[in-house]
Amino acid sequence: MSKNIDWSNLGFGYIETEQRYVSNYKDGAWDDGTMSTDATVTISECACVLQYAQTCFEGLKAYTTEDGRVVCFRPDLNAQRMVDTCKRLEMPVFPVERFVDAVVQTVKANIDYVPPYGSGATLYIRPYMFGSNAVIGVSPAEEYQFRIFVTPVGPYFKGGAKPITIRVSDFDRAAPRGSGHIKAGLNYAMSLHAIVDAHNQGYAENMYLDPATRTKVEETGGANFIFITKDNKLVTPKSDSILPSITRRSLMVVAKEYLGMEVEHREVLLSEVKDFAECGLCGTAAVISPVGKIVDHGNEICFPSGMEEMGPVTKKLYDTLTGIQMGRIEAPEGWIKEIK
Ligand SMILES: *Cc1c(COP(=O)(O)O)cnc(C)c1O
Repeated sequence: MSKNIDWSNLGFGYIETEQRYVSNYKDGAWDDGTMSTDATVTISECACVLQYAQTCFEGLKAYTTEDGRVVCFRPDLNAQRMVDTCKRLEMPVFPVERFVDAVVQTVKANIDYVPPYGSGATLYIRPYMFGSNAVIGVSPAEEYQFRIFVTPVGPYFKGGAKPITIRVSDFDRAAPRGSGHIKAGLNYAMSLHAIVDAHNQGYAENMYLDPATRTKVEETGGANFIFITKDNKLVTPKSDSILPSITRRSLMVVAKEYLGMEVEHREVLLSEVKDFAECGLCGTAAVISPVGKIVDHGNEICFPSGMEEMGPVTKKLYDTLTGIQMGRIEAPEGWIKEIK
């Protein structure tokens, strides 16, 4: 029985559900893993995660499709990205197949929390890992916990996606050189000040530039950029320090294979941004947030798509990808993992 939740008025917040997945790593091996009703984590005051922030996470969603199945979107890519993150953070790898299986188990155990089709809400899935034993000298932990919890979330934008205004940030983005492919708490901790400062000044987000030359577009705190050119091409920045967004990689396929667009994955200069027709931020949470205006130290870049609605090409990309996710449009092979 579906939970008695007002799905269409859900916000984007944490709601505790009954079950979560827990697996422990000790003496060089992961245990079998189990579901737990305990939403509290108890660890040493000197745990490596608390002292040296040895932790990482992933984020994906489960949906109810038009024909009533429960599915999630490309969980193998989240699994592989967490493998890459763990290697960079000297954490033990949680195998891809076990990750996908744990996602399926966790959603199944909380199936009553999966929002119904058409509500706009989804079940957000948060896999994460942390070093749990006491470490006082700077070194990786020897014991780890891998956990997955889920929480139902409402549509990221209430009443539709209004274009946002962002600013070119004076802060460097958090990911230090060579760590751009990790999805980890430390990147977010280091971006909190830039985000609060942007909000205080009336901007929804920061556009981070490459720290070496400050001429190239990187990404925002938690989403990659996509741009549409006046002649209908999708352009998206390429850099070693951009998190490889699964949404962005999927949109590149949608643009090319479903919409017949040309796709360019390349360095994007801040100086050419004024020539694009549309701009958006893409990630799992919002799929695409349209950007109407970018402020670069008082100099305003206003996209022709304006501040009232998503640009027409962005909208087509959005509708096609969400159509694939919700089962209204046939998905490429392997994109949809069926749970129920
Ligand atoms: C999660 C994240 C994204 C978006 O990635 P998706 O896989 O599309 O959700 C983009 N940038 C950063 C820094 C992120 O942490």
